[in-house]
Amino acid sequence: KTSKTSSKPVVKVEAKADSLICDPCETLGACFERHIDKSLTPKERDEQALFYAFAMSVKDQMLPKWRATRQLDRDTGNKKVAYLSLEFLMGRALGNALLNLDMNDESAQVLKDYAVALETLEAQEHDAGLGNGGLGRLAACFLDSCASLDLNVTGYGIRYEYGMFAQKLCDGYQVERPDRWLRDGNPWEVRVPSHNVTVPFFGHTESYIDRDGKRQYTWVETQDVLAVAYDIPVPGYRNERINTLRLWKSEATDDFDLEEFNQGDYTEAVARKNLAEQITMVLYPNDASENGKELRLRQQYFLSSASLQDLLNTWVSQRGLNFRDFARQHVMQLNDTHPSVAIPELMRLLMDKYGLSWDQAWDITSQTMAYTNHTLLPEALERWPVRMFAHMLPRLLDIIYEINARYLDMVAHHWPGDGDKLRAMSIIEEGDEPHIRMAYLAIVASFSVNGVAGLHTQLLTSGLFKDFYALWPEKFNNKTNGVTPRRWLAQSNPALAELLGKRLGEGWVKDLSRLSALNAFTDDEGLLKAWQEVKHGNKQQLAKLVEQECDVRFDPKMMFDVQVKRIHEYKRQLLNILHVIHLYHQIQQGKLTDITPRCVLIGGKAAPGYAMAKLLIKLANNVAHMVNSDPLVTPYLRFAFYPNYNVSAMERICPATDLSEQISTAGKEASGTGNMKFMMNGALTIGTLDGANIEMLEEVGEDNFFLFGLRADEVEALRPHYDPQHFIAKSQALTEVMSLLESGHFNLLEPGIFDPIINSIRCPRDPWMTAADFESYRLAQVQAAKAYRDPHHWTQMSIRNTAASGRFSSDVTIGQYRDEIWGIA
Ligand code: PLP
Repeated sequence: KTSKTSSKPVVKVEAKADSLICDPCETLGACFERHIDKSLTPKERDEQALFYAFAMSVKDQMLPKWRATRQLDRDTGNKKVAYLSLEFLMGRALGNALLNLDMNDESAQVLKDYAVALETLEAQEHDAGLGNGGLGRLAACFLDSCASLDLNVTGYGIRYEYGMFAQKLCDGYQVERPDRWLRDGNPWEVRVPSHNVTVPFFGHTESYIDRDGKRQYTWVETQDVLAVAYDIPVPGYRNERINTLRLWKSEATDDFDLEEFNQGDYTEAVARKNLAEQITMVLYPNDASENGKELRLRQQYFLSSASLQDLLNTWVSQRGLNFRDFARQHVMQLNDTHPSVAIPELMRLLMDKYGLSWDQAWDITSQTMAYTNHTLLPEALERWPVRMFAHMLPRLLDIIYEINARYLDMVAHHWPGDGDKLRAMSIIEEGDEPHIRMAYLAIVASFSVNGVAGLHTQLLTSGLFKDFYALWPEKFNNKTNGVTPRRWLAQSNPALAELLGKRLGEGWVKDLSRLSALNAFTDDEGLLKAWQEVKHGNKQQLAKLVEQECDVRFDPKMMFDVQVKRIHEYKRQLLNILHVIHLYHQIQQGKLTDITPRCVLIGGKAAPGYAMAKLLIKLANNVAHMVNSDPLVTPYLRFAFYPNYNVSAMERICPATDLSEQISTAGKEASGTGNMKFMMNGALTIGTLDGANIEMLEEVGEDNFFLFGLRADEVEALRPHYDPQHFIAKSQALTEVMSLLESGHFNLLEPGIFDPIINSIRCPRDPWMTAADFESYRLAQVQAAKAYRDPHHWTQMSIRNTAASGRFSSDVTIGQYRDEIWGIA
């Protein structure tokens, strides 16, 4: 510490036994000093320790407001929402907390005394990577918006010991490394043992006749696991609210250990302990495909049961055993089907634990559950073997059978004599190995079913869930995804935020529609120049990062063309790579007329078991190697694969992007949220009519968007007679690209490794129809390249994109959830 100053006077208040860890009037500076001077020797004060102490101090500053929020919610007794999600892709918390709490200036002041920069400390924080991609990051954006809109919403999730794996590249291949994000501790979490609950597994169901002559059921001889709550504060933007993200950790119960121990079987007891702790050990790294693993079902049930017990315990402690108003006071929003086992679990708890009748329990369940669907891809639709349920969750299986029987009566009534309909709509899929269709269960039991973009909801109601829509049209609704402008503009793009502040005032951070005022300034040369300078500065920073991470030099004067997202065939990174090969070929041939110098960046993780996605990473790296090592090519084209793409990387990439690649096969991307982040930061999109791209296009207009490709209906119409050879032959560019790829030019030392990719392009059953869209994509790229050569016009388009992004604030989305689903104040 270099000097001792404090911006605010310290008022000491006598600490009470039950009071907070910190003095509520203690300043950030005093708090930090306490965490440093009282707990660390000078030698121990390295950057990681300073970060930890600083984050603890910021958390301490939140404690009074956090407690007041809980008190307020308890006192007012307003309806509350539980957002149940197996994933929360939070990223780092420090920068976001300081922004929302308006503590940036104070922090800088405090840290000056310690001769350490805030950015240095921020860089010490491990990303909380408790999610795969869009779905988990959506949950994180929603938490920010709920707190900022002053809504009583609690996030419930799992405190995975290991988050999303760290991606390394080894000879161009993805290698997965465990993500031990908790190894240095987590300063933001508070362990709350008073909320511990136990979650039962295995055993069997018994029934008996109660005193009133009614048959009752109990689940006996279970193996119980302890769920321990860890709370993380979620501060609203510049308001009084601090909401909670409650993450559950699994531990062995005392009973569990004791029983074994008493029998003298010490080692068995310890082994069993490990089994309990396994449940929350690791996040399943699969995006948009089901896992089908028993441990995954255990995680889903563990989260669902612990969260519901928590809600019911709170209710009972405040309102006693009268559940009449419970449904009026609660909503459980299910983030995809992952937590949908909450449905039979709520029925079980209400009937078996609190003695409600089936009808009472069903009324409550079906009036409180709301389901968000995130995908149409068949491989992502969760189905669990009945056998697995019978073994692990036998009482829940009874309940699912009963729900299904009653619901099929209704179906039979609606479609009399139609056995096929019954089979098609049953929650139980018959066959050699019967399965439970979790999406059907979620629809049957929920009062609201929403898709996440206009096209997605339309495809759900006209396709996958058509019959359910016919039965219950009123349940279905659309809620187009959004992203928080706090993290994704104010925090991650400070230069642009400052420029916006100067032009428009600060109101846009809370009301993003105010960005539309920018449209009045698109001829203002001063703004255009400043806009270009901001982008250039951001590109310089990204160029440094790319050089450091990828050993490739990006030139900020070139166009930055970026595709970062999970690697998946439907997202068509392949189309992008084929286009890079085409540019490479053009440049080598000296055909430079349509070429605008560009740096192409691709980043993203492949699921460890997804061979094709991993091969695409290898192809990108091999092509990058050829591109970057040819001095004839590099003045016009550079190509890098960014390793270990995560939230923190996106915060650096997004503000520096000129052209955003949103090029999925139409009808396959439910919404996308990366697309919105790029748009907000002034990137232009090259994209298909898919997911929320359609709504982005509506907002910004075709003149400011590079549209290409088949529409969703055209994709389906073409599918039965799709002939890729025809599209390859028709496009000279694609013909050349295919011959170069097939010649082994990019894999001279590893012959044949890319055959699966080549075959997939040439296959008439290629579900992603890469060849069909190539030529149209190439022409859109020509347009983008041409447009970039006119910086004045490009900047105007960039401004129009930011101006039109207001609709994609998650505040707008959450406002719709609040008014149209949750019905909360
Ligand atoms: N991963 C991260 C770290 C993100 O920030 C996002 C969204 O911006 C995604 C994944 C999802 O990206 P996309 O919507 O492009 O699939």
